[in-house]
Amino acid sequence: MLKQRITICIPRLFGEKQREHFSEKGVKENIKEIKDNEEGRGGGYMNVLVSMCLLGTYCRYSGERKEDAGVLSLLKKEGLTLIPVCPEQLGGLPTPRLPAEQKDGRVFDKGGTDRTEEFEKGAREVLRLAKLYGCKAAVLKERSPSCGSNVVYDGSFGGVRVPGDGVCAGLLKRNGIAVFGESETKELLRFLEETGQEETGAL
Ligand code: SF4
Repeated sequence: MLKQRITICIPRLFGEKQREHFSEKGVKENIKEIKDNEEGRGGGYMNVLVSMCLLGTYCRYSGERKEDAGVLSLLKKEGLTLIPVCPEQLGGLPTPRLPAEQKDGRVFDKGGTDRTEEFEKGAREVLRLAKLYGCKAAVLKERSPSCGSNVVYDGSFGGVRVPGDGVCAGLLKRNGIAVFGESETKELLRFLEETGQEETGAL
């Protein structure tokens, strides 16, 4: 009876194309298409963390953003999903906020307040999300005291660069997540190709 009703309703409600879509053959084709797409994505989805400010979110200490064309172009990459994070906001800091830099293993804002706790909390939150989404890599804002990788500022607020990682970038690296800056999107893509197309491991 139900089948009869559906058979009557579908032709009335939908056009020829939709009827094909709902037919047994159409459903099978749709399932095949979904599977093919997943295989095209390498049998799984690649989730990559991204600094939110690089996507154009107004989350920087100054209340500004740092939209990056190269990072935005990653959104068009098939099989790649960007997971936006801002460790400083996740650590409970407001926007705008005073700029901060690392010194002697701590993080101080320009007013001299120790912000290490908030920075570490935000970094832990990002790591938790990275594990939840099975991220193997991250593309993070260069030179930030949270997101910077390999190079940060020296704590003098004088624009002096020194070797080192931001608090979040460092924690991610210590947990086996590869970190790339916004100027390294090509390297990121190469890394993703090389590391293979593993399915994301949700917790
Ligand atoms: S903490 Fe990272 S994501 Fe947030 S504004 Fe700073 S650089 Fe951007």
